[in-house]
Amino acid sequence: MTDLPAVENLINGEWLRSDHERTVHHKFTGAPLATSYDATPAMVTNAVTVARAASRTPLNPLQRYEILRAVADQIAANREQLALDVARESGFSVKDCLGDTDRAVQTMLTSAEEAKRIDGEVVPIQAAPGFAHRLAFTIRTPVGVVGAITPFNSPLNTVAHKVGPALAAGNAVIVKPSPFTPIAAAALCRMLLDAGLPPGLIGLVLGPGDPVGQALVDDERVDFITFTGSTAAGKAISARLGMRRATMECGNVSATIVCRDADVLSAAQQCARGAFRKSGQVCTSVQRLYIHTDVLDEFLGELSAAASKLVLGDPEDPSTDIGPMISEAAAKRAEEWVHAAVDQGARIVTGGDRTGPMMSPTILVDVAPDARLLCEEAFAPVVSVVPFDDLDAVIDKVNDTPYGLQAGIFTRDLDTALTAAKTLRMGGVVINSTSSTRADLMPYGGVKDSGYGTEGPRYAIRDMTEERLILMEPAGGSR
Ligand code: NAD
Repeated sequence: MTDLPAVENLINGEWLRSDHERTVHHKFTGAPLATSYDATPAMVTNAVTVARAASRTPLNPLQRYEILRAVADQIAANREQLALDVARESGFSVKDCLGDTDRAVQTMLTSAEEAKRIDGEVVPIQAAPGFAHRLAFTIRTPVGVVGAITPFNSPLNTVAHKVGPALAAGNAVIVKPSPFTPIAAAALCRMLLDAGLPPGLIGLVLGPGDPVGQALVDDERVDFITFTGSTAAGKAISARLGMRRATMECGNVSATIVCRDADVLSAAQQCARGAFRKSGQVCTSVQRLYIHTDVLDEFLGELSAAASKLVLGDPEDPSTDIGPMISEAAAKRAEEWVHAAVDQGARIVTGGDRTGPMMSPTILVDVAPDARLLCEEAFAPVVSVVPFDDLDAVIDKVNDTPYGLQAGIFTRDLDTALTAAKTLRMGGVVINSTSSTRADLMPYGGVKDSGYGTEGPRYAIRDMTEERLILMEPAGGSR
């Protein structure tokens, strides 16, 4: 155990161990990868004390830009190694991890650029009765200390989406990554220090949500929580925050609609990728597919063909498309949901097999409307195909979950696209691509139980700053 690389807590530039060791495993081979050390309660308190003190001397926007830009360059320079590290700790194919690493470069670069664009507005105060001689404008100031709690399913880029904007906005930030995947988060912190970030502005506390994440949330000196993870954890955190602000990026039961005028081949190929990439462990993964009856057979044929071409196996192998799920327990749960749907009358078109943590890409039809696979987040490479004839009815179905992150619709008809855009109650509606489509600079976030607040550096910076009004009157009174 001691020969393994260590993943340590970071407080004020010092890397710290504790007595609470945890082994991080290779998610495909099961081999030990590293030993991580859970933060003690005192470490969490210290991390916040240090961040509080450091946040009183924010960097100027140009300094923030230069540091974040340098980190983007470092990620790009270490692309292959980072992708391999993420593939090992997450189980996602190295192909996918290279893509995520490239995205993290963009996230840090965009954060750097946005650090130079934090502005306020002039308020036309003279128009108010009695205010003709005054001036007013707003500025945006850092919130202070940001606590960033991240999930296992994007170990580098989701951390970048929190750390980049938090620092760009002038805050100190403390990261609490998933205990399944702490390696990439620690690597990102190290790059920030190497780029010259004052050490008090970045902290890393390791361990599970309870108690480490909770301790971070419960410390009232943490001004803002940016959380990505399950809706259950998001609700538990929200309930503890009181008046403190937060961004909650939570779960979804993502749907994509394919209309009869769609380009069926392109839609099926995109849906296969959107459903099975990262073994379906993406918050916007295509889980419910509503297909117009006129194109159902053609679509199913193309979707099955695309699924059968996917290569399952060791995520480190460059030819692998799909690696294991995060744990055998997660794969077993997914398998149980498939079996339960079959017991309720569903038919497996392809897949349905599990070996250890590997779940084969699975397509089902005739899934009962109340089956868990249509109502709850599966977070697995499992997609249910449901035929439809009536667009309004299918839009109602897509809206009929507690969630609202993103949805996709394939159509060539402008009216249909606009109807979907206006009536799907989601944070984002994607036309002619799947629900699982994201560029890192775009505003991204959910409604309803999918959460609140917005990611994308420009929007996250808005969330992680406070708007302050400055109202000025000439010292000599009105003239
Ligand atoms: P999770 O909720 O189990 O854990 C997420 C993080 O929260 C981890 O770091 C965990 O340790 C911490 N945590 C858990 N309970 C906590 C508590 N009570 N207090 C403080 N911290 C706590 O999620 P996961 O299994 O790692 O990730 C999968 C989930 O994340 C899925 O539901 C997925 O939809 C969601 N997700 C959402 C988005 C989005 O942008 N909306 C993106 C990625 C993942």
